[in-house]
Amino acid sequence: MARLQAPRGTYDVLPEAAAARLALETVARRILEGAGYERIETPVFEATDLFSRGVGASTDIVQKEMYTFTDAGGRSLTLRPEGTAPICRAYVEHGMQVRSQPVKLWYLSQFFRHERAQAGRFRQFWQVGAETIGSDDPAVDAESIALLMAILTELGVGGIELRLGSLGTPATRAEYREELAAYLRAHEDRLSPEVVARIDLNPLRAFDADHPGTREVMAGAPVLMDALAPEDAEHFAEVRARLDAAQIAYRLDPTLVRGLDYYARTVFELTSDLLGAQSAVGGGGRYDGLVEQLGGPHTPACGWAAGVERMLLSAEHRPLPREVCDLYVSGTGVPAFALAAEGRRAGLNVQLELAGRSRKGQRKQAARLGADVVALVDDDGSIALEDAGSGEQKLVAGATAAVAHILKGRHL
Ligand code: AMP
Repeated sequence: MARLQAPRGTYDVLPEAAAARLALETVARRILEGAGYERIETPVFEATDLFSRGVGASTDIVQKEMYTFTDAGGRSLTLRPEGTAPICRAYVEHGMQVRSQPVKLWYLSQFFRHERAQAGRFRQFWQVGAETIGSDDPAVDAESIALLMAILTELGVGGIELRLGSLGTPATRAEYREELAAYLRAHEDRLSPEVVARIDLNPLRAFDADHPGTREVMAGAPVLMDALAPEDAEHFAEVRARLDAAQIAYRLDPTLVRGLDYYARTVFELTSDLLGAQSAVGGGGRYDGLVEQLGGPHTPACGWAAGVERMLLSAEHRPLPREVCDLYVSGTGVPAFALAAEGRRAGLNVQLELAGRSRKGQRKQAARLGADVVALVDDDGSIALEDAGSGEQKLVAGATAAVAHILKGRHL
């Protein structure tokens, strides 16, 4: 029989890797909730239509990366490839526009994309993300970036670069697309066949190409940032002024196009030079039209997502201390079990001997766990409490007296 393995592009989080992930979650939660963001969790699968309408039919994600299936009721469902469209769906579905605006939400969830698996690129991966829905204030854009930066800095993610651009409004983009498509058509003979095939569908993606001829052509291509309408240019200047005030360094990148269609105005991406080919740690931007596109009222919004695996790969590892063990219960009978239960009810961290070790083996195990107190419990219910540090022993009658004694010892 073939050996069973985790599917390609997925991985198990083994206990030894759990501490670093918990540390990451703790940092993200402290920084985001400290800034007034509240946690949200949406379903792992959604109606396929949400992503084809929300993310954009011409994007790589929708064209080739979605895990889509038909359920027993004949509905087309898709494992979520990203978090913004589902959160906007939830915002509309739950009428969050009546809450005080902007609504500030964060998440730590898993996502699914059928991509070519490689280092730092998985088919099931985790993202931390934050969405600020219901404000077009440039302070929102700058604060989103600042919070993501704060998380990466706190985690010790090294070699970070922030790239920043503005895509303007959909109208500006539409005009610019025409201009760019015309430019590409005029240089068609030097472009890669894939880029030529996409000139009408998505000419902006030509900026992403690795093909040498295409890159040469793109070096002289018109850029969107030069074509912004005055109010968008002003908005972008306001975002930049705030980043400067917060001493957040960035590089303007007029070719920054993100792989999702819903962005408008500010876009940004953070890379770490500690990562190989998959150097993007996180990115995001403003998506002023998305809520409306999903059937809600016109609602400007801005957000980002950062890859957990890539943050862990490029972070300094400073895991949180392990949970302490207050009491190690040595003994295999019913009274030992009763003591463990009583101790937990009283709020102690209790571990129970489960491996049938000898008394000596149990003491060793308690020492490995760093237990404060070891309880040696006999099957007749008599208990000897032993201070793990001094080795001092005390005899007590029954579980209640034992727990009372431990609590007293801890608190006096
Ligand atoms: P995106 O939603 O494509 O903007 O991605 C945001 C961040 O999520 C990226 O910068 C990566 O850090 C991470 N990410 C995206 N796709 C994957 C993937 N397939 N595997 C691991 N991380 C990913």
